[in-house]
Amino acid sequence: MAKYDYDLITIGAGSGGVRASRLSSKYGARVAVIEESRYGGTCVMRGCVPKKLLVMGSHFAQHFEDAVGFGWTVQGATHDWGAMIAAKNKELDRLEGVYQRMLRDAGTTLIDGRGVLADAHTVEVNGKRVTADKILVAVGGWPVIPEFPGHEHVISSNEALDLPQRPKRVVIVGGGYIAVEFAGIFNALGSDVTIIIRSGHLLRGFDHDVSATLAEELEKNGIKIRRDCLLRSIEKHNDGYSVMFDMGEEVVADCVMYATGRAPNTKNLGLTELGVTLNKKGAVQVDEWNRSSVENIFAIGDVTDRVNLTPVAINEGRVFAESFFNKNPMTLDYTNIASAVFSQPTVSVVGMTEEEARKNHKVRVFISRFRLMKHTLSGRNERTMMKLVVDKATDKVLGVHMVGDDAPEIIQGFAVALKCGATKAQFDATVGIHPTAAEEFVTMRDPVPEKVEV
Ligand code: NDP
Repeated sequence: MAKYDYDLITIGAGSGGVRASRLSSKYGARVAVIEESRYGGTCVMRGCVPKKLLVMGSHFAQHFEDAVGFGWTVQGATHDWGAMIAAKNKELDRLEGVYQRMLRDAGTTLIDGRGVLADAHTVEVNGKRVTADKILVAVGGWPVIPEFPGHEHVISSNEALDLPQRPKRVVIVGGGYIAVEFAGIFNALGSDVTIIIRSGHLLRGFDHDVSATLAEELEKNGIKIRRDCLLRSIEKHNDGYSVMFDMGEEVVADCVMYATGRAPNTKNLGLTELGVTLNKKGAVQVDEWNRSSVENIFAIGDVTDRVNLTPVAINEGRVFAESFFNKNPMTLDYTNIASAVFSQPTVSVVGMTEEEARKNHKVRVFISRFRLMKHTLSGRNERTMMKLVVDKATDKVLGVHMVGDDAPEIIQGFAVALKCGATKAQFDATVGIHPTAAEEFVTMRDPVPEKVEV
């Protein structure tokens, strides 16, 4: 008779937890996954997927405008927010069913409820105790909204994805991924959007040319960006909210959204009671094997606050299952992970920013700014920016950055090139595909002149 009910209990059926559970089941482990909300987790139910559907839905507004320059007459196009939300929700229901079916087909037991650790091998769920040799914590993160007068009036991205109507005037606090993505959705559909950032820049951690180009393009599209600005309080009125800033100014909005980061979901999970070490943000600290400070307790995905991206969580789930249930020990290589921001225009990057590269390398920088061929006829005043950061000594391409249409689709391929250690000479030896925007990455010949120190 087995010592435990299961070989593995996964708490959290998001992208990472599902991949780890399915694969472990496939390799013969007896696995249960516990989920308190919806199967699919943040990415599928409250993040990447619904967000991208809304980005796509809102982007039609630009397509309609651009079509005129190509001879189209677009009359009477109107948008029904409610219809878009209903269609999106139908798709999420379908996806949740797919996730549940994939788990069941793999032989994983699904337990609906909130799992709390009772001891290192026992999880309490729905008043019952289930035991396992290994526990995998894959509970993700949740939006953080700071406390201030009127904070109860604000929404996070969770609610923004399900608003019954599109708000006409939107204030978005924060300048990260979520802020600029939702700013694009609301703005494209006709809302008046103001982004509030406490610093001078959007997208902290991104290359400065990326951040500056995106800000310029968002502003050209009519999004207002208030820099070096802090929100002090919010008051509710009959006709919306008064949003007060630290400098004493005020704006009126129908919706105030906070996108000021996310925190790991580790509260009241029984982790600290068992001696699982959390860092100061509350994230589970793990080694390269995803092992916490308690030998049989592991964690993957956003709850570990390493690289908070879905494909990273999925790959952490994969290497966990390979290592512990397929006798194939492997760890994840966190270098050169590409990422994308589905703002309008999109941003996508892989490798080092110029600032990071300059810390340890002498670099050559190549930048191209141009108008997409489409906009020669559409008349849209949008510029695409592409940038390469190259190591002077080895000629290796250290960073590839793009702001412009289809950037994520283009950068994915260049991420492979960077993984292979491609040099600028190899980029130059690659024949471009014409006429595309992507070909610009293999035809940049002249580096940006070095600034002369005086
Ligand atoms: P980010 O960490 O990306 O950005 C947070 C923003 O909020 C920053 O601009 C930050 O300013 C600002 N901020 C933080 N605290 C405050 C405060 N108290 N008052 C005012 N401003 C504040 O967080 P997001 O919420 O946008 O996204 C969370 C995570 O979700 C991201 O890290 C990302 O990994 C993931 N994600 C990924 C997506 C993708 O891959 N496309 C899409 C959406 C989310 P400052 O820069 O000054 O610190």
